[in-house]
Order: sequence, then structure tokens, then C-alpha cells
Amino acid sequence: MEQRTVTNPQPKLTDHFAKLITNGHLAHAYIFAGPQGVGKKELALWIAKGIYCPNTQNGRPCLECAECKRIAEGNQPDVVFVAPEGLSIKVDQIRFLKEEFSKSGVESNRKFFIIQDAEKMTTGAANSLLKFLEEPNGQVTAILLTTAVNQLLPTVISRCQLVELSALTDAQMVASLEKNGISKEKALVLGRLTDSFEVAQSLAQDDNFEQLCQNTCRWYLQILHNDWRCFVDVQAKILPLLSGKKDEQLLLDLIVLLTKDLLLFRYSQRKLSFATFNQEFSKALQPLSTREILKATELILETKKRMAVNVSFQNVIEALTLELCRCYHG
Ligand SMILES: [Zn+2]
Repeated sequence: MEQRTVTNPQPKLTDHFAKLITNGHLAHAYIFAGPQGVGKKELALWIAKGIYCPNTQNGRPCLECAECKRIAEGNQPDVVFVAPEGLSIKVDQIRFLKEEFSKSGVESNRKFFIIQDAEKMTTGAANSLLKFLEEPNGQVTAILLTTAVNQLLPTVISRCQLVELSALTDAQMVASLEKNGISKEKALVLGRLTDSFEVAQSLAQDDNFEQLCQNTCRWYLQILHNDWRCFVDVQAKILPLLSGKKDEQLLLDLIVLLTKDLLLFRYSQRKLSFATFNQEFSKALQPLSTREILKATELILETKKRMAVNVSFQNVIEALTLELCRCYHG
């Protein structure tokens, strides 16, 4: 798997924090609140790099040096990451954090910690954290990440600066993915497929996903061409690529994207998502009526509902293949 340096998907906020780093105006504690996948953790790590990187330019880390890489890999002892153990973040975990920071021999007097899912702190952990924030040893920056800011203790909220991160639009997501070295073609698919920057990042580096996209596109083209091999290929080339519920969901999302693609291409000439297959899809679409294209979208949405009642995925996907064939070819 390729190692990539991840930059932040929230350009306005990186500008803001770059200024604070340059002016030495960073607050002691922040809460980054926002839905899953908007780049809260990426932003926190970016700020940490901005603090420790020796080659910053106007507060922006270089993302290339040993220090930046160490932080990205979780190997910088002054940058500590705390996440729930089981269902909660326990008081011992915050104590451990304090001890880590009071140890001599750590590399500098500048400490940075990130608490993931901060709303899962027990009251004990939250109180322990508060004490720590009130009497830090040396220079400490704390960043609390949360998807549910209203579940944090008011005393914690009042000690931190609240930064709300909003969901990325499809276009912003595509731009951010491209900035992170993902090809334009892949970025377009991922931007339309998921709202989560993290999910998009990990799918982009997953060879299995690439294969699934290609095989699903070919299978869908077979259906559009009324080619009986679609029944064979769904078993031989698609199902073996799936391991578990998450992958099954992903396949259905890909099929939804394909049917939606055809619909939006017919209605508004929206660019199709899978660049390699663009020509073939637009050609296969020509003889179809708008009614058929609409019906196919309904079919796949019904299939998603059927999935919810937990029947065999193989049955579901075989039935869908047959229904789609009937839908497009009467
Ligand atoms: Zn650097």
C-alpha cells in the first residue's frame, strides 16, 4: 500500500490556524466538532505538524520532513493521541496522559494532545482533564474531537474554543482528494460515493476497491447490453471481492451511483463518474427510455431496503441482476 502524506480537507481552517501558529496565538484547548469524516483529526494533526515542523512557511508545515512524518505515523512522543477504550474514555487514560507529559526525557517542553470522541469521556475523565487544562506544566495544546458536542460537559466546553467543521460538498471533497495525490478520475467517484474524507482516503488506497469498481461497471454494461454473462459475472467476479456487510453496502452504493449517473446524464448531461467507461455508458444509454432509467433507480433503492431485513446478499444481488435486465429490456 502506498504511503501518502495527508493534507487537510478544510482549507479555510488551515489558513486560520496557520496565522495563529505564526503569531503564537494558539489557545490552550480547542474542541473540533462536526460530523464523521469532515477532517477533524486531519486538521488537529496538521496543526501539530505546524508546531513541530522546523521548515514551516507562514505557519504551514512542510509535510515532508522527518518531524512531520513522525507525527503522521504517531511516533512523536510529544504528540499524544487518546481514543476510547471500549465504550468510554476512562479516568486512567487521562491520568496516563498527564504522567506521559510530566516524564523527563520527553523531547521538548511543548506538548500536544488529541482526544478522539471526546464526548465519550466519563465524568471522572472529564474532571481530570479539566484540572490538567487549568494547571498545565509548560506549554500544552489540547484538541478534543467530537461528533456530539452537546454531550460534552458544559465545564469542558467553557474551557475550550469551539471550532465547528461543516460537511464537505462533493466538489470540495473531490478537490481535497486531488490535493492529496488521488487521481482526478478516482476523486470524482469517491467524492460522489461518500461524505467521509477518511473513508474516501482509505478506499483510494485499496486495490480491491479499484477492482470492484471495474467489475461492477462491466457487469452493469452487460445488463444494459442484455448480455447473459451478467449472471455469471456477478457470481464469479463481484461477490468474491466482498468480505462482509461493509463491502456489500459499498457495492450497493456503487450500483446506486451508476443508476444515478445514467439518470443525471439523461436529465442534465452531468458528467458520468467512471471515466474509463464513460463512452460505453453513454452509448448504452441511448436506446433506453427515461422511464426505464427512472425505474432502475427505484429498483436499486428497493434492494437497499431489502438488505435491511437481512436476507442472503447473494440472493439479493442475483434478484437485482434479473430485475434490472427485465427493467431495461422488457
Ligand atoms: Zn515538516
